Amino acid sequence: MSESYKNYVRGEWVTAESEATFDVIDPAQSDEVVGTYQQSSEADAETAIAAATAAEDAWASTPGPERGTVLKQTSDALADRKEEAIETLVREEGKARSEAAGEVQRAIDIFAYYGQKARDLGGRHKASSSRDTDLYTKVEPLGTVGLITPWNYPIAIPAWKLAPALAAGNAAVIKPATAAPGPTRILFECLDSAGLPDGVANMVTGSGSQVGTPLVEHDDVDGVSFTGSTAVGTDIAETAATERKRVQCEMGGKNPTVVMPSADIDEAAEIVANGAFGTTGQSCTAASRAIVHEDVYESFVEKVVEHAEAVDVGAGLDDPDMGPHVSESELDSTLEYVDVGREEGATLETGGTRLTDSDFEHGFYVSPTVFSDVSNDMRIAQEEIFGPVLSVIETEDFDNAVELANNTDYGLAASIVTDRLSEADAFVDRVESGVVKVNEKTTGLELHVPFGGYKDSSTNTYREQGDAGLDFFTATKTVYRN
Ligand code: NAD
Repeated sequence: MSESYKNYVRGEWVTAESEATFDVIDPAQSDEVVGTYQQSSEADAETAIAAATAAEDAWASTPGPERGTVLKQTSDALADRKEEAIETLVREEGKARSEAAGEVQRAIDIFAYYGQKARDLGGRHKASSSRDTDLYTKVEPLGTVGLITPWNYPIAIPAWKLAPALAAGNAAVIKPATAAPGPTRILFECLDSAGLPDGVANMVTGSGSQVGTPLVEHDDVDGVSFTGSTAVGTDIAETAATERKRVQCEMGGKNPTVVMPSADIDEAAEIVANGAFGTTGQSCTAASRAIVHEDVYESFVEKVVEHAEAVDVGAGLDDPDMGPHVSESELDSTLEYVDVGREEGATLETGGTRLTDSDFEHGFYVSPTVFSDVSNDMRIAQEEIFGPVLSVIETEDFDNAVELANNTDYGLAASIVTDRLSEADAFVDRVESGVVKVNEKTTGLELHVPFGGYKDSSTNTYREQGDAGLDFFTATKTVYRN
């Protein structure tokens, strides 16, 4: 029996005005409904914005350490419910249990981290050229912020937006993605039990057009932080800019890993395969292009195919290497790209099919896919597939590899596998990417360092996470006190 869940507005669990709902299904067992959520409307979003606006001044004037204590208690409450959060995440989003466990732990750590940061917030005193003037900066919250999140990291991303927003003294309304709202709901139960004052954080579930749009357009929303596709994020950034609203959009990627001949090719293939097939390729930082030096190209293709074929696919709760796609439409989109790759003349080395035998018949499973003979101008090398599909591209030398790596509209994460420090350093300097890794997969982040993309992967104004994560949610006032 699945349960029915409500919105969280002004400290209460409430139904949508229309009383309409939608079901969330298990991607490993699509005939099972995991939970029923509110199909909210613009009016529900506006009620939540009003609740946040009414609460923003009192929260802004709550001392930082007190705000920090609420965040720390939220972290503790989530730690107490870790197993439940993992299970909900897996049953809604589909990823492998150990990946979900890492993600829930990340959310626990993020709330603890920003709980501490709330104590450190403040301005700086500066020397003034006047003897009589006390010159200092004062850091203030923006007011009310709208947070819009995707389904692929359904607790880490809400956490890395909510925690710094609240630490900095903002009130917030969040709209989680409809495919996996459960982990955000659990986060709100934890905020509630931690004693967050009513109205400071609100959660409204529903569609992007009904609930997301008012969060971007409403006059009382002072900042919008969005993570999702480049198409949606670009529209949001444009709308927010015309209203002179602070906006941060973190979007898609087409992330390269360059493999040089000095690399250990076994290790390189493993690094690329882990980056490409982890989280079913549904990561903004997934390794979707391997750009491989001609001297090691053939051996790399052979090894990476071996890795792809060794991937254990299954239901997330059984903790396989790779779970199903989140939905049938995402699965169909991946299969369409497989057809595109074939039509463009790439060689399908392995995978590319829906898995349908008895273990898989009710889920959205696809086999890990490797294309070789890909040229960088093919659609499969340029467009974000958001599935477990790797394109292997041959390169003649390091300069050409960097050129190919940069020849994309995106710039989120990139890596190089090499044994030469000079190549690693040159790659770090020349690659157009917000995250660069050496001898590591493109996926995986640490919470205390900035995260964000270049080019079409980001609005590239503010970074998320770490100290940088607070910058978006604060304004600086400079005070000259004579
Ligand atoms: P999406 O853009 O379809 O949706 C993201 C969120 O925006 C959802 O909550 C959705 O309901 C909402 N939305 C949709 N239309 C809207 C509108 N017109 N106005 C306001 N809100 C709207 O993305 P998705 O399918 O949920 O997530 C996958 C995408 O997210 C991929 O492109 C991936 O690369 C990207 N992503 C980026 C990062 C990053 O940090 N760069 C992290 C994770 C995912």
